[in-house]
Amino acid sequence: MPLETVKLTASFKLNGSIPESLFSTYREVLSRLLDYAWAKGVTSFKRLKTEKYHELRAKYPSLPSHYIYTACQMACSIYKSFRKLKKRGLAKAEKPLFKKQVIMLDDHLFSLDLKDWETSIAVQGGRVKLKLLHGTYHEKFKEMKIGQAWLVKSEDGFYLKVVFSKTVELMESKGRAIAVDINENNIAFGSMEHVRNTETGERAIRTTYFLKRRRLQSKPRLNEKHLISKYKGRERRRVEDIYHKLANHIIDEAKELKASTIVLEELTNMRKRTRRSKELNGRLNRWGFRKLQNIIEYKAKLVGLNVKYVNAKGTSTLCPICGEKLSPNGYRRLRCSRCGLEEDRDIIAVRNLLRRYQIDVGSSPVHPKSPPMKGGGKG
Ligand SMILES: [Zn+2]
Repeated sequence: MPLETVKLTASFKLNGSIPESLFSTYREVLSRLLDYAWAKGVTSFKRLKTEKYHELRAKYPSLPSHYIYTACQMACSIYKSFRKLKKRGLAKAEKPLFKKQVIMLDDHLFSLDLKDWETSIAVQGGRVKLKLLHGTYHEKFKEMKIGQAWLVKSEDGFYLKVVFSKTVELMESKGRAIAVDINENNIAFGSMEHVRNTETGERAIRTTYFLKRRRLQSKPRLNEKHLISKYKGRERRRVEDIYHKLANHIIDEAKELKASTIVLEELTNMRKRTRRSKELNGRLNRWGFRKLQNIIEYKAKLVGLNVKYVNAKGTSTLCPICGEKLSPNGYRRLRCSRCGLEEDRDIIAVRNLLRRYQIDVGSSPVHPKSPPMKGGGKG
């Protein structure tokens, strides 16, 4: 059976503080490394470490040595993404800079005790132990491996972001599949024979918070910024809560239908989701779409389901049976003039996604008007 590693990031708020000197020293070390990487064109972590470790170790003797390793890693990745942006003409600065209050940790630099709800972090001259205040902690993390982490200093305190991972065994993907069609305020999911349609209520939440923010902006106050970010946080948590519940419904449905694969839309064509209330949702909408897909994906994989992405172009306008262009036939209904199919547009979208998937895996012939598949169908 195929194996796959599922990764999840959890964010814990820390009760207490990390010495400012750790952040400033780390920033200094990282800036030196970044300058060097940029000047010499070094993109390899190994090379950067070999050429700079001893020098920095001697210069910052009280800094635990593994911070130099993680700074080398960060410097390489920052430089590489800077170079990519530069090539595309998107970086204004001449050289990459690091100003963030972020420190990367490896397993020598921190430990996490989820029983006692505390963490221990290496600092200059020893370790600090801090209680965790709250976080996105779930039971599922207990059986997962702890990987890299980041220490983040933000306006309201210190956070520890930890990547958890678990290797899972996925089912053979030959069985039945269900597909998920995500829209702004509803999602449809199911098999060829049976499709469920659920209102998400996301739009109501977004509208509420949009109006709250607008009210705040119209009467500027001293703590306006703080309130706006508080509302943003709340809005996000409420929406994420909806996403988790939706994802659970989808996984339950997959189990009930004895499916082995969940089919999702590839994120290339966002027109469908952003068209309606651009002003209201803007970028968050795209964020939401991807976020929901991510939640569905990891939840599915944790129970052994496969997740496949298919090209979603035309899935709400073409006939899932013959490929003809569909025409509207009343509220939310579409009709095919060639084969006579008449169906709810969300059901059509789900069936089309399933058909794309079948074509992708070679278990169905391509219908004449299907757009070309990514990776090439065998049909
Ligand atoms: Zn048709």
